[in-house]
Amino acid sequence: MKGDIGVIGLAVMGQNLILNMNDKGFKVVAFNRTTSKVDDFLNGPAKGSNVIGAHSLEELVSKLESPRKIMLMVRAGAVVDEFIEKLVPLLDKGDIIIDGGNANYPDSTRRTRELAEKGIRFVGAGVSGGEEGARHGPSIMPGGNEEAWPHVKPILQAIAAKTPQGEPCCDWVGREGAGHFVKMVHNGIEYGDMQLICEAYQFMKDGLGLNHDEMHEIFKLWNTTELDSYLIQITADILGFKDENGAPLVEKILDTAGQKGTGKWTGINALDLGIPLTLISEAVFARCVSAFKDQRVAAAKLFESRVTPVEGSKTEWVEALREALLASKIISYAQGFMLIREASEVNDWALNYGNTALLWREGCIIRSAFLGNIRDAYEADPDLVFLGADNYFRNILENCMSAWRKVVAKSIEAGIPMPCMASALTFLDGYTTERLPANLLQAQRDYFGAHTYERTDKPRGEFFHTNWTGKG
Ligand code: NAP
Repeated sequence: MKGDIGVIGLAVMGQNLILNMNDKGFKVVAFNRTTSKVDDFLNGPAKGSNVIGAHSLEELVSKLESPRKIMLMVRAGAVVDEFIEKLVPLLDKGDIIIDGGNANYPDSTRRTRELAEKGIRFVGAGVSGGEEGARHGPSIMPGGNEEAWPHVKPILQAIAAKTPQGEPCCDWVGREGAGHFVKMVHNGIEYGDMQLICEAYQFMKDGLGLNHDEMHEIFKLWNTTELDSYLIQITADILGFKDENGAPLVEKILDTAGQKGTGKWTGINALDLGIPLTLISEAVFARCVSAFKDQRVAAAKLFESRVTPVEGSKTEWVEALREALLASKIISYAQGFMLIREASEVNDWALNYGNTALLWREGCIIRSAFLGNIRDAYEADPDLVFLGADNYFRNILENCMSAWRKVVAKSIEAGIPMPCMASALTFLDGYTTERLPANLLQAQRDYFGAHTYERTDKPRGEFFHTNWTGKG
């Protein structure tokens, strides 16, 4: 009996996805460049399973049912192209290559087109949830050649995470690079969510002087509110975790954040598309600032920077902080969905925004109850332009507004950096201001560059230029 799907790449993601597929009753053929890892896998984690090994690409291809489905779980970038190049001569028209790695979405667009010309159907599927997700149910965001979807759908939906209502967190996203685009925005949102939590932690620790047991309890409690999410839950666990001396381990971790680039890609795309993705961009920059450890240590001495303790009821501040975090998070997702909408329109992807929220509801790092509310918002109004205009989210923003302003103002007064919560509030203030000072800006542009301007007392589309100096 031949295999249902082949998987190339036996590192952490590939191995776990294969075991997940095997659990769901699919016969998987496994291959890896370093072929000794195929044997290690078959004699180790896959022992006793139905997984079949292959020691060459030819063997892999020969052991698969037609149309062949081959999933690449290898290092993103050139390695994917190298495998595709080697596979194509071995495949028949109609066979399917799925890239489940973290591809940059223009690569998936290119691969879909190039392979379509050769009669091969390509799927670029973003997979989120890390090792645990891969093993027990990841969030999967497939895009590419839609003709491939009916063939890969039963496998991908079977292994995906499920919502509390039993819906798979995997559905067709859209043409070409749409799946990897949505995965990229997911990663950007992850950057934002993490930074927001870190800002709340710093305010609690440095401003309010709370200890780790107190913070652990607070995050545990927050996880029973609208903030209920994987990242809040693991933050509670981390803050409660003690090292061998009984001290909080988190304080022994060097404060320089790493990044692999997907947050940066999200920011670059937002700039390219003209979308004010301020919160996620600030989160990327916050990681950059954190990486300047030596410079920060020197600059801290230069300005004798120190935090002024925050006075007042700690309980009230903690609740204000929770509201500030929640409101900021709404803005982050609102901006993320603005980016997805713009990309969908520019690329003619016809993305379903409610469905996108559903894909992230479980299985991935940003999984949360909140995503269920986002899905409801887009179900109620599929053309919703600004998430904050939905009744549920607008009410939260209104109710949290005063606490949010108080927290951001206090952080500035106390000297606690809060780039994401502050930028989210500033964005909302700008977005909800009928008349911004861009009239002056247009006048400046016209003054120095004759860029012209439109007038409030004339129809839109009529442009004027003024000789501001009166000189010829
Ligand atoms: P990885 O460390 O990104 O890649 C290792 C795999 O790539 C191995 O099978 C390795 O083969 C192969 N490989 C590397 N260089 C190669 C080359 N020059 N030629 C041929 N094969 C090569 O593996 P991973 O962490 O399991 O991730 C797989 C994909 O999923 C990546 O795109 C990653 O970004 C994405 N992803 C990872 C996570 C995660 O939590 N790790 C989460 C979501 C998505 P050898 O054994 O022969 O070296």
